[in-house]
Amino acid sequence: MEQLQTALTTIKVLRSSVGQVFEALSNGLRADHGEENKETKYLCELQELLNTVGVSLRDVEQAINSLNPPPGPFNLASTSFLGQETTQERQALYSSLINSYKWTDKVHEYSNIAQSLLSQNNLKRSYTNASRGKRGRIQSSSHNLSPPQVDNVIGQFDRLFPDMTFTISRPFASNAVLQITLGHVLKAVVAFKGIMVEWIVVKGYNESMDLWTESRYKVFRKVTENAHAAMLHFYSPALPELALRSLMTWFHSLISLFNDPCKRCGLYLHSALPPTWRDFRTLEPFHQECKP
Ligand SMILES: [Zn+2]
Repeated sequence: MEQLQTALTTIKVLRSSVGQVFEALSNGLRADHGEENKETKYLCELQELLNTVGVSLRDVEQAINSLNPPPGPFNLASTSFLGQETTQERQALYSSLINSYKWTDKVHEYSNIAQSLLSQNNLKRSYTNASRGKRGRIQSSSHNLSPPQVDNVIGQFDRLFPDMTFTISRPFASNAVLQITLGHVLKAVVAFKGIMVEWIVVKGYNESMDLWTESRYKVFRKVTENAHAAMLHFYSPALPELALRSLMTWFHSLISLFNDPCKRCGLYLHSALPPTWRDFRTLEPFHQECKP
């Protein structure tokens, strides 16, 4: 690869020195050749430039001789058929194919980097960390309740918060996905791992619910962000049921999302948003900019 790079560089040098010859030729005799012996000076200059071309050419030849020809034709698999396309718009496929290959390579590279960064992340909650207690010894994984136990815990919330409805589904084997409707204000999807909350998406009351897309409304995207903060704040592998109850109590306080003024500035709107932050302890509403 390095040899190829050198060869390409020498070719560039050759092209530029040839270019200089033609430039000198096209300019002809110039004022800076003076009056005396101007032809001789001009010819000397050309001679010198041609010598440089000769040297550059020799460099190119040397660089090319040191290259090893590829062992056989490149295997392009079925993409080689793209070259036989006759219609104009399909011929462009090859370059977009190359681009998508490059793109996939990058995705691969970035995901490897992300993976190594995330594996150092202390906030990681499932699998390894969640089963360890504070003293580092391995506990029985208290978050790993059976589906009926999880249903039972969630059923308690149903009685605790009459203005919230909870719908449990299990699209991914045994782990529950909980759909919450909070009054007529908003909806949320909560993904569980055992009884631990893994992910929350908050959306508007009229939006379609799924785990993978965010709300089209800024206010609910902000609430989703804050719900993630709450999810991490209330995370407690030792007391997972209490953690979930605290999170749900916090979440329930959002029922007055559009009705409560900010505790600090007393206004309803700030930057066209209601107070989307709820204090974790007091549940008091604050604007993003006003939170303590
Ligand atoms: Zn405020």
